[in-house]
Formats: sequence, structure tokens, C-alpha cells
Amino acid sequence: MDKCYDVIIIGAGVVGSAVAREMSRYKGSVLLLEKEHDVACGASGANSGVIHAGFNVPTGSLKARFNVKGAKLLRTIAEELDVPMKFTGKLVVALKGPELAQLKHLKAQGEANGVRGLKIISKDELRRLEPNIEGIAALHSPNSGIICPFTLNIALAENALSNGVDIRLNTEVTRISKREDHFRVFTKKGTFRGRYVINSAGLMADKIAAMVGLKYFRVQPCRGEYFVLDRASSGLLKRMVYPVPPVRGNVLGVHLTPTIDGNILIGPSAELIHDKYDTRTTGPGLGRLLKEAKLLLPALKSPEIITSFSGIRPKLARPTYRGCYDFIVKDEPQVRGFINLAGIESPGLTAAVAIAREIALSLKKKLALKKNGSFKYRREGIVRVRELPLEERASLIRKRKEYGELLCRCEEISKAEIIDALNNPLGVRSMRGIKIRTRAMMGRCQGGFCGPNIIDLLQRKGIDPDEINLRGKNSCMLTGKTK
Ligand SMILES: Cc1cc2nc3c(=O)[nH]c(=O)nc-3n(C[C@H](O)[C@H](O)[C@H](O)COP(=O)(O)OP(=O)(O)OC[C@H]3O[C@@H](n4cnc5c(N)ncnc54)[C@H](O)[C@@H]3O)c2cc1C
Repeated sequence: MDKCYDVIIIGAGVVGSAVAREMSRYKGSVLLLEKEHDVACGASGANSGVIHAGFNVPTGSLKARFNVKGAKLLRTIAEELDVPMKFTGKLVVALKGPELAQLKHLKAQGEANGVRGLKIISKDELRRLEPNIEGIAALHSPNSGIICPFTLNIALAENALSNGVDIRLNTEVTRISKREDHFRVFTKKGTFRGRYVINSAGLMADKIAAMVGLKYFRVQPCRGEYFVLDRASSGLLKRMVYPVPPVRGNVLGVHLTPTIDGNILIGPSAELIHDKYDTRTTGPGLGRLLKEAKLLLPALKSPEIITSFSGIRPKLARPTYRGCYDFIVKDEPQVRGFINLAGIESPGLTAAVAIAREIALSLKKKLALKKNGSFKYRREGIVRVRELPLEERASLIRKRKEYGELLCRCEEISKAEIIDALNNPLGVRSMRGIKIRTRAMMGRCQGGFCGPNIIDLLQRKGIDPDEINLRGKNSCMLTGKTK
């Protein structure tokens, strides 16, 4: 008889990976299944990277509870797992009189949710904090922050792996059957047995739930497009700047977000779409973003745009819905042992670890699991040479000369960092895998200069040219010899 896991988690986005990490605090057997070639391939790898303080979500909702708790937990988790994070603060800016009432509402809602330090500031104070921002008043939230969403997802999964979780990438769940005391989870790479199944499949959570007969919710994809500005524009803003959120739509509006690496994101839009895989960006969508962003930041005359991307929200309601559909975090009574973590839209990145901790604690009790005495709570990431003072760089280069060879000049990423990314614990070898682990190819040239250097390095490291791919199978970079 094949092994029966205590817990099988479906989907290695930030939620599934956080559950895997939290479960690895206990002595249970855990399997994390992901259909893509890497983690952070869904919404977890295409968002604003904001640690929300928790004033945008209705009091008493799961969103509010997990948001506020998650933001607190991230302070510790980011430090333990070497994830770049910064509490820059956020401004929600009113452009006209009628929006002032909304600022007061957000402040009161935030305070009821347990958010500290919220203050409504005048036009003068707004100008002092952010001289380039237009507005008549603002809500200032000093405890909002930014985090690298890729590193958070990767770090949670890597730490779970080093604490004994089995992780299978490229393993899509196609069917689930319920037996008396366990589930059989079918994939194209074999069948796995588990006592509990956790559905953290993001946009596909409705499809996974339907596999065990649960059809009470449908995931509605809602695309959000973004522009990315070059780091040269970083002086425009110090903190996140949001408009007063639209009353309809349950979205936060087009905002300006300085990223942890010094770029500025403009977006996201909110567009109801039919195809869950349709991550294209569109001329009209991007045009609207610029128009809306200029209302807040008129200095954005000819922005230094280096790229665009989009992320898809797993909404449970149409964007025109007036209100807030809550997260589904539910041990399903009709299918004993099946747990849905669905509709985890924003603030899901902030909330993920809090959701995971609660789920893991309840499974610890149900499965009577003991503590994992050898739990490693720390993870060391790849050294970020660019952030080090010159003396430290010099000392690193003396120890390993590859630190002195820059393969990506825009982002100042050394050959050593790229080699370390290539040797990542999850065994991901795609160009995107290297990109999200190092930032190589994310700068002004978008890989035009460093891409070929990295391909050359991969070949020198023994990877067959036919196997060099952008994002897993069916995305080969090289098709044959020209000479
Ligand atoms: C535009 C946008 C902006 C956002 N901004 C923020 C923000 O600033 N702050 C914040 O807190 N939150 C933000 N969010 C929300 C946050 O990104 C999500 O809540 C979070 O990433 C959800 O994580 P997840 O793990 O549930 O889903 P995902 O990251 O989508 O992961 C689900 C995984 O399941 C896998 N999967 C699907 N089907 C199967 C299958 N059959 N078998 C195996 N695996 C499967 C997928 O490949 C995917 O990797 C934003 C979201 C979007 C879209």
C-alpha cells in the first residue's frame, strides 16, 4: 500500500506555501502539489506587494481578521526567512470634498479592525510628506508596508521543504475521490493519498472544490494591469499613494506603489474577464492607468515605463457587486477532511501566513500531531550584492570571484547570484525562475543585455540548449543552430 500523507495541499502560491511551512512545525507528513513549473506563478507572483494594514476591509470579516494578524506576523516571518520588506506607510488621498467622508469611514473602520496610528492629515501635511502628490487631505497609515511577493512565496516553500514537506512541481491535480478515511488525489504524475486535502488553488479553487462535489462558489477572474517605472523615477514618491476607493467594485483603485527594489508600480486596473489564463496587457487598459495616476501625480508627464504586466484576482463576486465578498476559509462539513481556502483575493498576500497558522493549528489538534523538535525557522536567501556596502562586496569577491562579475548591469546582479538561483532548493531551472530569485532581467533592458549572458551561463553549467526555457515546458528559448 502506498504512503498516506496526513495533509495534501493543492497549489503552491503564497497561501499553499504558507500552509506547508506552518504545517512543518509539526511531525506530520505533508505533500504540496503545484501544476506549474515553479511557485508564485499565480496571483502571488503578480500583485502590488503591499502589506495592507487592514483599514480597507469590513469589520468582522475574515478578510479583516486575517489581514491585521497577517501584517503583524509578516514582520517576524520576513526576518526569519530573509524576505525584503519595508514599512514605508501609505496615503489614501482625497481629490475632492465629497471624498472626505470616505476617509473618515476608512479611519473608523481601520480602528475598529485594530489598526494603529491612522491619522487624517491636511493638504499642507500631505504636501510635506509627498511634495509631488495632488490632493485636499489624506488618510495616513504609517503601518502599511511593502514586501517582495516572489521572495515571500519562494522562501515559505523552501523553508517548508527544508523542514520535510514533499513538494511536487509540474503536478496538476486532475481528479479527487473521497474514501472512508482518506482522499485519493489524481495527477498526471501519479496518485497520492491524504487524510486531509487543502484547496489553495487560487483561480482554480472552484474547479478543485467541484472535484469533491462542492459547487457553491464560482471564481470570477478579474484582471489588473500594471505599468512598471524605471528605478530612475524612484524620487517621485516615498510611500504608497492610493485614491479613495471606488464605492462599487470591491477594489482599491489605481495606486502608485514604490516597490521594495526601487521601481514604482502604477495600477492595477479592474476588468472582468472570462479566461482565467488571459494575462495580457492592453493599450486601452494601460492608457486608463496613466490617466488616473496623473490625477494624483501630475509630475508623471512622460513616465519612464520599462514594462507592463497583469495579475488576475480570484473574485467570488462580479466587480460591480456593491459590498465585500469574504474569503472562504472553511473545513467543509459535507466532505469531511476537505478544507477550502478560496476567493483569497487582496489582502491575501498580507493575510496568507495568518490563514496558514490557523489552519495548521486546527490540523495539529485533529491529527494529534507532536511538535517538530528540529523545525528550522530560519532560511538564508541569495546574497543581494547590490544592497551591500562596498567593503562587504570587496570581501565577498575575495572569497568568490563570481561576485565581482556583473551579468545583469541594470539591476547589478552578479554571476554568483545567478549561479545560486540556478541551484535553488526547489530545482527550478527556467529563466523566470532565475529572474524572480535574483531580479536579473527585471531592469531597464528587460533581459535584452543580460538574457543572452544568462543563457550562455546555463549552457556552460551543462543545461542542454533545448531545455533552456522561459517558464517551464513549452516555452523553449532556443530552437536550433543558426551556424
Ligand atoms: C492585481 C492584484 C494585486 C494584488 N495586490 C495585493 C497586495 O498588494 N497586497 C495583498 O495583500 N494582496 C494582494 N493581492 C492578492 C494576493 O496576490 C492573493 O490574495 C494571493 O496571492 C493569493 O494566493 P493563493 O496562493 O491563494 O493563489 P495563487 O497565487 O493564485 O496560487 C494558486 C496556485 O494553485 C495552482 N493550481 C491551480 N490549479 C491547480 C491544480 N489543479 N493542481 C495543482 N496546482 C494548481 C496554481 O498554479 C497556483 O500556483 C493582489 C492580487 C492581484 C491579482
